[in-house]
Amino acid sequence: MTVGYLFDFDRTLVTYEPDIPGIFRNACEAVGVEPPDDAADIIRTGYVETFCAFDESPYLGAARAARDAGLDVDPERLAEAHIEAELAATTVPDGVGDLLASLSSVGIVTNGYGPVQRRKLAETGLEPHVDAVVCADDVEAFKPDNAPFDAITAALPAGDYVMVGDSVEYDIRPAAERGYRTVYVGDGDAAEADICLSSPAHLPALPRRLDAVEPTDF
Ligand SMILES: [Mg+2]
Repeated sequence: MTVGYLFDFDRTLVTYEPDIPGIFRNACEAVGVEPPDDAADIIRTGYVETFCAFDESPYLGAARAARDAGLDVDPERLAEAHIEAELAATTVPDGVGDLLASLSSVGIVTNGYGPVQRRKLAETGLEPHVDAVVCADDVEAFKPDNAPFDAITAALPAGDYVMVGDSVEYDIRPAAERGYRTVYVGDGDAAEADICLSSPAHLPALPRRLDAVEPTDF
């Protein structure tokens, strides 16, 4: 039976060094402004509100929110600097590329913004090992909705699926409800996942660990 391996992207296949506050600080530095103390909350709100409208780049929404909060910046310039800083912070743990290369059917289903997620895939060198990608803006819906899962499984036909992700709410639970085997990546509490790996650095152990978990008949 063909197995489709579905992966979340952020903090599952890639990690960030620095993480979001540091990324935004680096972006501000690149355009010559000092981020406010509550920058993380401001940009998160702008990002989410813009993304949910599926009309334009959420990075632009985040930058506009920062400007509206008093940052003296051109939002277009800050948005581009934010994307560049995020790309520069994107890190692929050792062995993850080899793992994807060893799997015959690999899909990525991510709540991230398509143009940026696809640039990350290209620039990290993971892209050649990935057979299909579905981002939130591709389907105008976010996990745990069915639409992203329907789209990735339509693009990657298989008899059985394994979902690997770092969110119980967005990755593990919806995949389990669809009858997929689930692999949680992270240090949180994910007792409902079939397998738990404590960090993306442990992903290379995935095939060996999965051998012990039989596909379930639903
Ligand atoms: Mg994630």
